[in-house]
Amino acid sequence: MECRSCQRELNAEALLCKRCYFILRDSLSEIPALQAEASSFLVPGRTGSGSPTSERSIGFNVSAMDYSLASDILPMLHGYEAKVRRGRNLTPPALLMRQPSIEKEVAATIQFHIAHLDWTLTQDWIGDFAGAVKEIHAKGLSVTKKFIEKPRRIPCPTDGCKAHVVIDIENLLAGVTCIKCKTSWTLYRLIQLAMDNPNRRFWLDIEAICLWLNMGKREVLKVVSAHNISKRNGLYDIAAIVKKRYAIDEEIVYNESTSIRAATKRGEQ
Ligand SMILES: [Zn+2]
Ligand SMILES: [Zn+2]
Repeated sequence: MECRSCQRELNAEALLCKRCYFILRDSLSEIPALQAEASSFLVPGRTGSGSPTSERSIGFNVSAMDYSLASDILPMLHGYEAKVRRGRNLTPPALLMRQPSIEKEVAATIQFHIAHLDWTLTQDWIGDFAGAVKEIHAKGLSVTKKFIEKPRRIPCPTDGCKAHVVIDIENLLAGVTCIKCKTSWTLYRLIQLAMDNPNRRFWLDIEAICLWLNMGKREVLKVVSAHNISKRNGLYDIAAIVKKRYAIDEEIVYNESTSIRAATKRGEQ
C-alpha cells in the first residue's frame, strides 16, 4: 500500500501515512483562523500616508476578499461534508440549520470534518480530500501574507476623451492622470466624476464595488438582480448600483459589520 497523498510506501493497512494525516488535521484546524484573518488583508497597508479615511481605497486584495468570503473554502468543505453525511447516514445537508455568518459556517464544517476524520481516512477519496484541503490551506497562507493586486482601468470621465485611466494603488495618493487628456484627479474624485457623468457608463468588477461601496458581495448581487443592473464582461454599472442601493430594503441580507447601511444604523456615517 502507498499513501494516497504523498505516495510513500506504507506498512500498515492505512490509506494515508501518519505525516500526511497530521498535515491534513492541522491544515483543517487552521483554516478558520486564516479565513477570519483574510479580511485584514483586503486593503494594502500604507505607512505614513496620512490618507483621509473618507476616501475609500479601491485597490485591494481580490484573493483575500474571496478567502474572507470563503467562496472557495465552503463549496469544497460542504461538498465533502455531504459525502460523509451520505456515507454515514447522518442528517443530510439540506436539513441543517444555516449558520448566521460565514465564520460560523466555516467553523461548523471544519468541526464536522475533524470529528469524522477517522472515518474519512478509510475512504477511497481521502487522497482527493487531502489535496483539496492542502490547496485551500496554502491559499489561506498566501492571502494572509502577501498582497496580490489586480490592476483596474476605468474610463476617463472627461467628455470626449476615450482613454482609460489605470488605477495604480502605489500612486493612489499622488493622484491619477489621464495620459490622453492630461487631466489629473485624486482617485476618489475620479470615481465620483465617472459615476456622475450621465454620458458615461462606469463598469467595475464586483470586488471593487463591494469595497468602494462598503457592501457585502451578496448584498451587491441582490441589488444587481432586483434591479436588472447592466452587466458587461463580468463588470457592473456601479452608478446604477449606487442609485438603487437603498431601494430594496428589508430583503437585503447585508453584512452587519461592513455595510454602509449597518454603519448608518450604528450612527457612524
Ligand atoms: Zn503521506
Ligand atoms: Zn482623458
